[in-house]
Amino acid sequence: MADYKAPLRDMRFVLDEVFEADKLWASLAGLEGAVDMETADAILGECGKIASQVLAPINREGDEVGSTWKDGVVTAAPGFKDAYQTYVDAGLNGLGGNPEFGGMGMPKTLVGQVEEMVQGSNMAFGLTPMLTAGACLSLNAHGSQELKEKYLPNMYSGQWTGAMDLTEPHAGTDLGIIRTKAEPVGDGSYLVSGTKIFISWGEHDMAENIIHLVLAKLPNAPAGPKGISLFLVPKFLVNDDGSLGERNPVTCGSIEHKMGIKGSATCVMNYDGAKGWLVGEENQGLACMFTMMNYERLGVGIQGIGAAEASYQGAVEYARDRIQSRAPTGAVAKDKVADPIIVHPDVRRMLMTMRSFNEAGRAFSTYVATWLDRAKFSDNAEEKKHADAMLALLTPIAKAFLTDTSLEVAIAGQQVFGGHGFVREWGQEQYVRDIRITQIYEGTNGIQALDLMGRKIVGNNGAFYKLFEQDVNDFIASQAANTAAAEFIEPLKAAMENLADLTQWVIDQAQGNPNEIGAASLEYLHVFGYAAYAYMWARMAVVSLPKANEDFYKAKLATARFYIKRVLPRYIGLSAVVKGGSESLYELDEALFVTA
Ligand SMILES: Cc1cc2nc3c(=O)[nH]c(=O)nc-3n(C[C@H](O)[C@H](O)[C@H](O)COP(=O)(O)OP(=O)(O)OC[C@H]3O[C@@H](n4cnc5c(N)ncnc54)[C@H](O)[C@@H]3O)c2cc1C
Repeated sequence: MADYKAPLRDMRFVLDEVFEADKLWASLAGLEGAVDMETADAILGECGKIASQVLAPINREGDEVGSTWKDGVVTAAPGFKDAYQTYVDAGLNGLGGNPEFGGMGMPKTLVGQVEEMVQGSNMAFGLTPMLTAGACLSLNAHGSQELKEKYLPNMYSGQWTGAMDLTEPHAGTDLGIIRTKAEPVGDGSYLVSGTKIFISWGEHDMAENIIHLVLAKLPNAPAGPKGISLFLVPKFLVNDDGSLGERNPVTCGSIEHKMGIKGSATCVMNYDGAKGWLVGEENQGLACMFTMMNYERLGVGIQGIGAAEASYQGAVEYARDRIQSRAPTGAVAKDKVADPIIVHPDVRRMLMTMRSFNEAGRAFSTYVATWLDRAKFSDNAEEKKHADAMLALLTPIAKAFLTDTSLEVAIAGQQVFGGHGFVREWGQEQYVRDIRITQIYEGTNGIQALDLMGRKIVGNNGAFYKLFEQDVNDFIASQAANTAAAEFIEPLKAAMENLADLTQWVIDQAQGNPNEIGAASLEYLHVFGYAAYAYMWARMAVVSLPKANEDFYKAKLATARFYIKRVLPRYIGLSAVVKGGSESLYELDEALFVTA
C-alpha cells in the first residue's frame, strides 16, 4: 500500500501563484496581520507531517477493525485516540475558529488545504475535526454569548468534540418532518427527546465530552421546515466553573456497519429527556444550520479530493512498477520481460484523468474558499454581498462535482491495479468505498443539483450565474494578448458560451414544466463543473507558461492540455442529455417499473 505524501508543492502553487493568497489575505480587514504565506507554509508543513506520519499509518487498521460499540460505549478504531491527541496538540483543531473564544481565525483558503491532507490520509478520522468545526460555526454564529463562552474554547482546543444531529429514521433529505421534541423546562433549558440516526462520531472515547447540535421541534411549532429549532445538548453537563457534571441522557443505541469510512462511528443517538439549550431563535433551526452549510459542503468536496489524491499516488507508483506486455510502439524496458504498465495508452488515460480532476479540484475548492474568505473577512458590504451570491451558486457544484469526479478518480485508481485493485491488500479499494459516502451525506448530490438548478439558477433567473460568467469573462479578456494561452482560453470560451446557452434553455423550459428543473439538474451541474474546471486549468496554465522549462510547470501544462482535449469535451454530450428534457422520465407509468 502506497504511503500518503502531502501534496504541499501543489497547494503552494494554488495558494500563492494562482490565487495570490498573500494579496487576498492582506486586502481583507478581518484578517489583518493574521496570516501570510510564511505562516501558511509552516502550518501546512506541520499538518503534512501529521497526515503522513500519524494519520495515514492508522487508516488501514481503522478500516479493518473499525470503531466498536459495546453496551452504549463506543471505542474509536485502533490508534485513533492517540492520533486525535497528536492532532489537537499541534493546534490544528481550532484553526478556522473565532479568536475571541480561542480559535486561530485562519482563512478557509488555508484551512481547506489542511482539511485535504487530514481527509486524504484518513477520511474516517477527518470527520471528527470536520464535524467539530461545523458545530462551532453554528454555535459561534447563533449561540448566546453565555453558550459560546462555555463551549467554544474547549471545542476549538479539541478537548471536546462536536456532532451534528439532523437525520432521523424517517427524515433525511426532508428535515421538515423530524419528530424529535424539545420541551421548555422554564429555566432557559429544554428537555430533548427522540432518536437520531447516522450521527458521525456521535459517541466515542477520543475526547472527554461531546457537544451535540440537535434539530428538534418545540411544542406547537409550525409544521414543516419552519418549525425546526436548534439545540445544544452536551454528553456531560458542564458546571458553572467549567468542570464536567452529570451524564446527560443522550446515549448511543448502536453503530452502523457500513461500506466505507469504517474507522468512524456512525451512531444511533437516543435522547431521553436530555438537557439542552436553544441555539439561535425558536423555529430558526434550519437557517442556523445553513450558516455552516457552505463550509461543510465545501469540506465534503475536499474530503473527496483528499482521498482521490491518495488513490492517485498509489496508482502512479504501481503503474511505474508493475510490468505487463510491451508498449505499442516497441519495448521500453528492454532488460525486462515486459514494460511497466504506465506505457500503455489506456493506463495513461486513467492516470491523466486522475491528475486532471485532482489538481483542478484542488484549485476549484480554493477558488470557492476565496469567496468564503471575502464573505467572512471583508469589511466592504458590496464585496460581501457579491461573495455570498458566488457561494450560493458555487457551493452545490463544489460539493457534488468534486465528489462525483473523486469517485471516478478512485475507480480509475483501482482499475490501474487490475485484480490487485479489487483485493484489500493494496488499499486502493478502500478509497472507492470511503469516497462513496461523500456523494450521499451533507445533502445527496441529486439534492445539490436540484438546489443549484432550482434555487440558484431558475429561482433568480440566472442572476448569480451572471456573476460567475463575468468573473470568467474578465479573466478571458485579460488574456486577449496572450497568444501562447489561446489553446486553453479558446476552449474555455466555447465551454462558457455553451453553458450560457444551456442555462437560458433550462430557465425557459422550467417556466412551462417544473419537472424540467429536476430532469436537467445533475447533468447541468456537471456541464457547469467541466466549464469551471476548464477555468481553473486555464488559470493554472497561464501561470505555468512562462516557467515551462521547470518540471513542475511542464507537468501542469501537460495535464492542462490533457484536460482540455480529453476531458472537457464531455460537456457536449451532457448538454445534449439536458436538452433531452423530462418527458421520457415520466412516460413509464409507475406501476410498470416493477419488472417481475
Ligand atoms: C456514513 C454516514 C454518515 C452520516 N453522518 C451524518 C451526521 O453526522 N449527521 C446527520 O444528521 N446525518 C448524517 N448522515 C445522514 C445523511 O446526511 C443522509 O443519509 C442524507 O442526507 C440522505 O438522507 P436519507 O438517507 O434519509 O435519504 P432520503 O432522503 O430518503 O433520499 C433517498 C433518495 O431520494 C432522493 N430524494 C429525496 N428527496 C428528493 C427530492 N425532493 N428530489 C429529488 N430526489 C430526492 C435522494 O437524493 C436519495 O437519492 C450520515 C449518513 C451516513 C450514511
